[in-house]
Amino acid sequence: MARLPEELVERVRAASDIVDVVGEYVALKKRGRSYMGLCPFHPDRTPSLSVVPDQQFFHCFGCHVGGDVFRFIMEIEGMSFPEAVKHLADRAGIPLPDLEYDDEAGRRKNRLKEAHALATRYYHYVLNASRHGETAKEYVHGRGIRPETVERYRLGYAPETGDALVRFLQKRGFGREEIVAAGLGVEEGGRLADRFVGRLMIPLEDIHGAVVGFSGRRLDGGSPKYVNSPETPIFKKGRFLFHLGRAKAAIRRLREVVVVEGPLDALLLAQEGLENVVAAQGTAFTPDMAELLGRYAERVVLAFDGDEAGERSAERAAPILLQRGLDVKVARLPEGLDPDAYVRASGIDAFRLRVLQGAESYGAFRLERLKRGLDLGDAADRARYLEQAARAIAELSNPFEREAHIEAIVKAYAVPKDLFQASVRRHLEAQARKAAEAPPYDRFAGRIHSSDAGGRRRRPRTAYEAAEARLLQEMLARPERISEIMDAVGGGWITPEGTALAAELYALFYEGITGRELVPKLMTALEDPALKDFLTELLLEEAPPLSPAALADLVATLQVYPKENELKALYAERSKALDAGDFARAREIEARARAVRSEIERLRRRA
Ligand SMILES: [Zn+2]
Repeated sequence: MARLPEELVERVRAASDIVDVVGEYVALKKRGRSYMGLCPFHPDRTPSLSVVPDQQFFHCFGCHVGGDVFRFIMEIEGMSFPEAVKHLADRAGIPLPDLEYDDEAGRRKNRLKEAHALATRYYHYVLNASRHGETAKEYVHGRGIRPETVERYRLGYAPETGDALVRFLQKRGFGREEIVAAGLGVEEGGRLADRFVGRLMIPLEDIHGAVVGFSGRRLDGGSPKYVNSPETPIFKKGRFLFHLGRAKAAIRRLREVVVVEGPLDALLLAQEGLENVVAAQGTAFTPDMAELLGRYAERVVLAFDGDEAGERSAERAAPILLQRGLDVKVARLPEGLDPDAYVRASGIDAFRLRVLQGAESYGAFRLERLKRGLDLGDAADRARYLEQAARAIAELSNPFEREAHIEAIVKAYAVPKDLFQASVRRHLEAQARKAAEAPPYDRFAGRIHSSDAGGRRRRPRTAYEAAEARLLQEMLARPERISEIMDAVGGGWITPEGTALAAELYALFYEGITGRELVPKLMTALEDPALKDFLTELLLEEAPPLSPAALADLVATLQVYPKENELKALYAERSKALDAGDFARAREIEARARAVRSEIERLRRRA
């Protein structure tokens, strides 16, 4: 997009209170001058995310991400800066001028989305208004999907003709290469054909409602039952959950999400009033999907199909969700039924009452599954079961749940409690060892980012870095001292972040910006996300006013820093000269070192 006018950015910022915006994603509690909540950017059990309304910024003590309201939206929605401004402008009802994409990748994605918007309209038209759509219409009706649901989700039909959509798109200016890249057409022996033929078309919307792909369902019993769009620049299967965009508000309100397997299951449940439902789309559950759900939900109810495949999917998905800190329950459907068939047979109330409310904890589900194929009357099988059960119990994170399962098993199989407990403990210890060896959590791993921000390295500050940080804090907290500190330190900042931050502070000072606008302006000026992390970290730390003596002391520490480095270099040179037997040179270096040492002493005394 073209560069946004600064005045507009400021208007959007003023209309987007950071506590309100963050509060739409994270439950916040007031604590002192800030609000605290669970950080959505790393697995967080103790609230680590701090939001400060006075200066309109956020910072996480755990993963050290921080910034203003735009940065928050960029990180949580995976948007670029202009996209985040647009997103918040829409939210605040501020009209934005039509901005053209000026980066190639953005323009490309936009074209692919336009192609999908057209395809959605085309398929929908075929379903509703053409004779090709009649069978599909009957099918949809037979599945209990009402006409208003067909409209709401813009369901469609891909006709049998084989290249109808391709021709439709070409007439509207889309080239062969674009149609293939969008995943809507395929090259077949030199000619371009539709990817989807003779299928009920379900548009796949991203979290903002743009169609980014399709799921096409066969209407006869043939297989494959579903064909999905391939991976494209706008459609990443490992990060996609069907219906999440429409369900997110309900999920946040209820703190619970119901996950089903097929998109039509999700549509039917939503139609019947169960809004907090998403579909995993037949692909294996990924940590990215768990991360997406974790932004909105605390509890996940897996309502997969009532067959072996469905239970196995639940077994694979649950550990990934637990890892993200989510509470997981498994709803069991009667053998052979999927949620859609169940609701058509028994109604949504029965589904809520018997299936969802009857959902068992993942632990109970797992312990039940382990019994399969074992004869628990047989001593060897029973021993095998107890060993596997001990391991499964050790994998549960809640100690009370672990204890409850231990009790139940000890009672059911008449095993000595201390024996079984020891077995669980052994598995717990093995897991703790494994966890300790695993690389530390990286909040940027596997995520798609508009900027390639890296987490700032975390180690205690050295004395020099601490002095620099303290002086920067003084300028931030009391801008009236910027000029004084600027005169004393000049260009003597020592770290790259400190140097960059000071440069921006000086620049704003010269523009006459020193009041409450200082921090917001600074946040915009610092384009590097790592600098925003650094700035918000400084802002969160207590910084009582510095006395003149303390200030002079810190300035001296910064001035000493390059001298200390010089001294170190001289010592290295001197020992090299001594090794080489060049005593004259060693003596000369020693004289220079002495001069530097007395300079350091002079600086320290002056402080
Ligand atoms: Zn965090």
